[in-house]
Amino acid sequence: QRLKPDATTSMVCGYCSTGCSLNVHLKDGQAVNLSPTTSYPVNLGMACPKGWEALTVLDAPDRATTPLLRNAAGRLAPVDWPTAMGEFVRRFQSIQRQHGPHSIAFLSTGQMPTEEMAFLGSLAKFGLGMLHGDGNTRQCMASAVVAYKQSFGFDSPPYSYADFEESDVLVFVGANPCLAHPIMWERVMRNRRSPEIVVIDPRATETAMAATQHLALAPKSDQTLFYGLARILIKNGWIDSRFINQSTAGFEQFWEFVQPFDLDRVVAETRLKASQIERLAETIHERGRSSFWWTMGVNQSHQGVRTAQSIINVALLTGNIGRPGTGANSITGQCNAMGSRLFSNTTGLLGGHDFTNAQHREKVAGVLGIDTATIPTENSLAYNEIMEGILRGKIKGLWVICTNPAHSWINQSSARDILDRLDFLVVQDMYHTTETAQRAHLVLPAAGWGEKEGTFINSERRIGVIKKVRKAPGQALADFQIFRLVAEAWGCGKMFSKWTSPAAVFESMKELSRGQPCDFSGVRDYAFLDERGGVQWPYPQEGGDDHPERRLFADGRFFHPDGRARFVFEEPRPMTELPSAQYPLLLLTGRGTASQWHTQTRTSKSAVLRKLYPEKPYVELNPGDAKRLAIVPNRWVTVSSQRGQMRALAVIAPTVAVGTVFIPMHYEATNRLTDAVFDPYSKQPSYKACAVRVSPD
Ligand code: SF4
Repeated sequence: QRLKPDATTSMVCGYCSTGCSLNVHLKDGQAVNLSPTTSYPVNLGMACPKGWEALTVLDAPDRATTPLLRNAAGRLAPVDWPTAMGEFVRRFQSIQRQHGPHSIAFLSTGQMPTEEMAFLGSLAKFGLGMLHGDGNTRQCMASAVVAYKQSFGFDSPPYSYADFEESDVLVFVGANPCLAHPIMWERVMRNRRSPEIVVIDPRATETAMAATQHLALAPKSDQTLFYGLARILIKNGWIDSRFINQSTAGFEQFWEFVQPFDLDRVVAETRLKASQIERLAETIHERGRSSFWWTMGVNQSHQGVRTAQSIINVALLTGNIGRPGTGANSITGQCNAMGSRLFSNTTGLLGGHDFTNAQHREKVAGVLGIDTATIPTENSLAYNEIMEGILRGKIKGLWVICTNPAHSWINQSSARDILDRLDFLVVQDMYHTTETAQRAHLVLPAAGWGEKEGTFINSERRIGVIKKVRKAPGQALADFQIFRLVAEAWGCGKMFSKWTSPAAVFESMKELSRGQPCDFSGVRDYAFLDERGGVQWPYPQEGGDDHPERRLFADGRFFHPDGRARFVFEEPRPMTELPSAQYPLLLLTGRGTASQWHTQTRTSKSAVLRKLYPEKPYVELNPGDAKRLAIVPNRWVTVSSQRGQMRALAVIAPTVAVGTVFIPMHYEATNRLTDAVFDPYSKQPSYKACAVRVSPD
């Protein structure tokens, strides 16, 4: 009875990029329970276990409730905010004086509201004089961003979730929405067009098991497959010539390029049957609307950008874009990866602008009322280059906000060694127990989702609102408030005098977006977003309501100056680490559950979510490999790579092919094994494939 709510509000969930809305039930202004919102156009009354448990994780006993400073004895000890801010400024400014302004950097996140990302990026670069800062979105979305920019002229996932229900053929590449995006999968299940569901994945994932076609190709051969598919489609005339002529550039060169990708070559490299490849081409041709969806299996690769573009090319040549049920559709991971892509001020200037473009710098300076000279004229180093900068002694101080690189960065032992070399590491997080916080010199206690305000942008470009429905514990503050304290303590508070609240920053964001493909200057305010169930960009001031479905490219015009999409292609590159005599198996990583999130920093705090997922690490092995290695089910084995090893329980199942094993990404030890290989264009790490050995304990 004590917890009987007296009011209800709604807000967007803070885990994945689906962007479900949750009704939060309040007692005396504090959240006491929640349920999925039935009227919201994204989730239509559904939520996954993480969403249902979103409030529980706020009550964890290891919440950071006070700033912590490492003392002379090497222990993190509580201090007050003035002391913490004093140390922040003294240590970082001392490093800058000694080693130059660019010797400090920041690493941010796709989990904070867009307003906080914009504040952090502006504060760090325009106020604190940093040049280098990147986000953990580098780990998940960078390849899609570069692919879209090169192919379409702007980072622009073109779809609406309605496309899940309006497709005749849904092709999922390196994607497992059953687990990774369960509510998106529910939208697929609502499709009444008897769709063909095609899964292209080396592993028999939960989604593959529900598919009508599963193409279990050799790891990292998807680029070759899509070139071969394009060749079949073009050769048979199964293309949309009108669309190609009116809306694309480079088709002739692409047709010439794919000539060598004949069926024999594609079969040899993908290890698929010719009939499987031909059937997929026929399916795309015969059924009306095909949509292509990809996630980390494509992006986290040594050739993620070109693989994404090999998918985009097939959508372009078949005219499967800009119409209901179509699209070359990258699904984002984190709740606000899309906000980060536009407003984190890391590798791109605020609002989808470019640091190297003088007009863009002028526009941003004008909107923010700052001196143009404070805006860097060059791009930041990428995440991996910041880590290398620390290793080489160029970067001495690091501010890590709302992410956990000591767990999540590739080749973990090396990453931890690199972080330990820093003269000053500041970690700003909800929990003081993360692997990165434990190495920090200073921990700043941050409020979490539900304890602060702002907006997220989901995978279909929908801007949704989050609200403060709980008081943060102890002295924890919203990241927004921490940034204000930093600005004042640093001495650049005047520059941010207009940044008084997330709502005030949202007004600036609207102006920054004006005239861009992502223009949402027609959104009045947060209440407007609430009333409309979120708003997809573009939503310009004039004609915002003209296109309620918000699918991009319906007019056949793309964002390049000539309005045409580009066919971008390149000879596939060999994998850098192949199985060897010493490490004869190939490790695949990915999501293992719908009930845990990434490094489990938040979701492991929920007893319900822990029950839904094995706490002990496990490795999936093919029965043939298990027999050969004398490994029996549910016994401990050691998995080793050139870089490290971990123990895991053996799960023996034909879900993985002979010669491959699978370990979920969520376990702390998984990245001891992974290899620091990066896509050359996006600098995204290739988490998905490296050589390992498995031995019984
Ligand atoms: Fe939250 Fe994603 Fe689950 Fe929806 S699917 S409830 S957005 S974690």
